[in-house]
Amino acid sequence: MTVWVEADLCSGCKRCVRACPYGAVEMMEGKAHVLDRCTSCGACLQVCKEKALQTDLKPRAIPDFSDRKGVWVFAEQRDGRLNRVALELLGKAQELGATLNQGVSALLLGDKVADLTGTLTEHGANTVYLAEHEALKNYRTNAYTRVLEELIRAYKPDIFLIGATHVGRDLAPRVSRRVGVGLTADCTELTIDPEEGILLQTRPAFGGNVMATIANRYSRPQMATVRPGVMNAERKTGAKGEVIRHEVFLAEEEIGTRVLEVVREGKKRADLSEAKIIVAGGRGVGDSKGFRILEDLASLLGGEVAGTRVAVEEGWIAADRQIGQTGQSVRPELYIACGVSGAIQHRAGIMNSRYIVAVNKDPRAPIFQVADWGIVGDLRDVVPEMIEELRNR
Ligand SMILES: Cc1cc2nc3c(=O)[nH]c(=O)nc-3n(C[C@H](O)[C@H](O)[C@H](O)COP(=O)(O)OP(=O)(O)OC[C@H]3O[C@@H](n4cnc5c(N)ncnc54)[C@H](O)[C@@H]3O)c2cc1C
Repeated sequence: MTVWVEADLCSGCKRCVRACPYGAVEMMEGKAHVLDRCTSCGACLQVCKEKALQTDLKPRAIPDFSDRKGVWVFAEQRDGRLNRVALELLGKAQELGATLNQGVSALLLGDKVADLTGTLTEHGANTVYLAEHEALKNYRTNAYTRVLEELIRAYKPDIFLIGATHVGRDLAPRVSRRVGVGLTADCTELTIDPEEGILLQTRPAFGGNVMATIANRYSRPQMATVRPGVMNAERKTGAKGEVIRHEVFLAEEEIGTRVLEVVREGKKRADLSEAKIIVAGGRGVGDSKGFRILEDLASLLGGEVAGTRVAVEEGWIAADRQIGQTGQSVRPELYIACGVSGAIQHRAGIMNSRYIVAVNKDPRAPIFQVADWGIVGDLRDVVPEMIEELRNR
């Protein structure tokens, strides 16, 4: 055993019992006792004020990362159009780069996409690594992974951010595995630890009931995916940067997949991430007829209608209009929540709204904790009055 108790020093305070995540410390006759299931994680050592818990484990050495520089963003594009999340990530990367005194780079892969480099530099990229090749025209996992791996090994970034889109969710784990680092998926907040200068990656955990902050001390780059709509894009018209071309050598047989045809089918998914005004309904709306009234309000305001997961599950609104942890994240100027309780999973998608107005008949509903204006009342009275008022103007 590598963790033991010096019984004479133990005061029996039980802090170590509470701190042990594995239930491997128990009290016996008023003294702490370490059980065989101890994993030597060290949680108990940190809380023991009397230094009664001791170990012969050496602290794990943090490798020298002084050659790791730069905050990188994967600039996802499709058919020559940049995905907005890439620009949002460049906004965040500038903030992280300024704190660390490091440059910001965008990684642009595709075929004949060089004309997008200007948009990337205007959104904060000091450098654009450009990899053009006809094999990169359509996203294919192996091809994109190969090129990103080459770039990471050649230029050694400190941080690498990827949008949590369909492509990003496929690509990021592959790349992280190839370069032997961890990955925090679906982050909603990124900051720099002021003492250690490492990336603190916050994401919902345990079904969204807690926010977990994850840091990676022992490998580089620190990799995270971030949901679209969570960060802010900032454009500085005319801003210039350096473009570094990366030569691509890819043989079709190495890639393993071929794109025979791109078929776009089905209804276009509602994109609420750009909406300026959103009127959202929850269980309190009662039925799909109630949602027609919310649609009237939304259309008078020139906005979009959306709903909670309950409203989607009840079939009152389409699934692509769900807001929240398992729906879309939005950042409107005005978010009007009608008959929405404000569960943490719903709030996860609306916290970047400029103003939140809540209509709820329960004055204790959690939505009022995050609302700028709260109307306590029955939405069946309040919403028609709002409509009437707007029509009279
Ligand atoms: C892993 C996981 C992921 C999830 N992801 C999401 C997600 O992405 N989005 C999401 O929304 N939820 C999500 N949920 C569900 C979430 O936990 C809540 O259950 C859900 O958000 C509640 O929806 P609601 O506010 O419509 O319903 P309720 O919580 O039932 O609230 C209804 C509210 O309406 C009010 N009300 C009732 N009648 C009226 C009236 N006539 N006038 C005014 N107010 C009235 C009530 O006072 C109440 O506050 C998730 C849950 C889990 C476990």
